Amino acid sequence: MVTVSDYCRERFGEKAYRLSLDGGFTCPNRDGTVDTHGCIFCSAGGSGDFAAQRRTDIAEQLEEAKKRVRPKYSGHSFIAYFQAFTNTYTPADRLRELFFEAIKAEDIVCISIATRPDCLGDEVLALLAEINAIKPVWVELGLQTANDTTAEYIRRGYRTEVYDSAVKKLNAIGVHVVTHIILYLPGEARADMLLRPCAMP
Ligand code: SF4
Repeated sequence: MVTVSDYCRERFGEKAYRLSLDGGFTCPNRDGTVDTHGCIFCSAGGSGDFAAQRRTDIAEQLEEAKKRVRPKYSGHSFIAYFQAFTNTYTPADRLRELFFEAIKAEDIVCISIATRPDCLGDEVLALLAEINAIKPVWVELGLQTANDTTAEYIRRGYRTEVYDSAVKKLNAIGVHVVTHIILYLPGEARADMLLRPCAMP
């Protein structure tokens, strides 16, 4: 089995450490565009509770995060991880500023962007493709479950086919997809987690 650490060692020459960032976003599942309540497991910080303070700029957040991980990591490869809320839910011009700021430093070897599959419009995809030509881009999608009944229960706010479509588009521009899932959500059995064709390009 290849782990993410194995992958990073092969790709970046050493283990890479994620630095969690807060780009000051909100989420359509919280601001009323899709819903106002959010996913039932989401925290007040938009599931980005390890991210740095949103009041500081991205360069500052990265430096603070590096200082925090120094006691446990002596390497020089970091992943800028936009973690809190929905990190493509703002106009592409603003995303451009934030993402280009994040990849500026030489020791940032990759940028990882957590978002919803219903927040990947054409302009955002074009921007991700542009950045991916400079440094690797990962997009982290909060699928949680492929069962639409469970998805309604957890108030995910989009159908699974939206995830499938987003994965195809991201694969088409060469961006790696990381999928977040939660196993054994209420009412789910092993079969719910296995009996689904994978989203393939
Ligand atoms: S999509 Fe993410 S940020 Fe939005 S409510 Fe769900 S977990 Fe929270």
